[in-house]
Amino acid sequence: MTTPTTAPAPPAPETGTPVIRVQHLRKAYRDKVAVRDVSFEVRRGEIFGILGANGAGKTTTVEILANLRRADGGQVEVLGVDPRRHPAYLKERLGIQLQESTLQGQITPREALRLYAAFYPEPEDPEVLLRLLGLAVKADTPFDDLSGGQKQRLSIALALVGRPEIAILDELTTGLDPQARRETWGLIEQVRDQGVTIILVTHFMDEAERLCDRLMVIADGVVAAQGSPAELTGAAEGARSFRIALPDGHHPDRLGLPVLPEVTSIEPAQRGWTISGTDAVLPAVVLALSEQGVIPDEVQTRARSLEDVFVDLVTTTQEAS
Ligand code: ATP
Repeated sequence: MTTPTTAPAPPAPETGTPVIRVQHLRKAYRDKVAVRDVSFEVRRGEIFGILGANGAGKTTTVEILANLRRADGGQVEVLGVDPRRHPAYLKERLGIQLQESTLQGQITPREALRLYAAFYPEPEDPEVLLRLLGLAVKADTPFDDLSGGQKQRLSIALALVGRPEIAILDELTTGLDPQARRETWGLIEQVRDQGVTIILVTHFMDEAERLCDRLMVIADGVVAAQGSPAELTGAAEGARSFRIALPDGHHPDRLGLPVLPEVTSIEPAQRGWTISGTDAVLPAVVLALSEQGVIPDEVQTRARSLEDVFVDLVTTTQEAS
């Protein structure tokens, strides 16, 4: 075994300062470019989401941060150091929950946590983690006999046992039932509240919207967008749409709605019409109708969700490539 480099470690950064800086990251597997050009920063104490469709390059990116893969190009700095030059320093400070992590079939959660705890100088008490993760009653059950959700929670516990400054959680709630997902979200917020910076790799929009302080969307190996969930959903402002049901006998064309400058499209919907346009489209349509003495049967507005933004971004990036 080679001894890892032990260059003097820099002082720990303060809250809110970047703990991860990635610039122009690039990684190919033979002729398959997995990560083309990815740059981002993660600040201390935040939950940072990495979103993307299957094969977008998310896992490759986080595995490079954790020194599990080698980048072909770009700069990576984690807690002030290059992961390749300071593997031992980072191993103690960065915990990673891997996708599909499997343990030997007969090992129990208690044994696995004790084993992993032994690798760290100041580990979390395995008993505390077993309770926190709701695994106390399964502490002595062999890994093979745990449910998918219990295995998932054990893998989170293993990522946290070294009391990391940064925890990378990949596909945190895949395979969990709705109740277990919500419990896991609560748990992640508790961990963040203890000051751990969390990187969450996910393709669940509701999870990202609920948990992440900031996030980036990767599509086809490049960053399609980054910001807070509110910034990303708000970025589409100026484009609004709503559904309207008109009284019998009325049609948008005959009411002159398509020629209003605020309207960009009118599509038939399940009940009525979906009208899209500028951010003033709703008052403009309602005013035009009231001037003609028409009162809509129903008007339904809908906030743009992160999922809408994601689908638009991924579609646009795929069309451009
Ligand atoms: P998923 O959501 O499906 O986990 P992802 O966004 O995490 O996807 P990656 O696992 O980083 O994506 O993979 C990016 C691309 O690189 C994919 O096309 C994948 O098939 C390819 N890839 C990943 N690992 C390897 C490898 N070891 N050898 C060859 N190609 C790989």
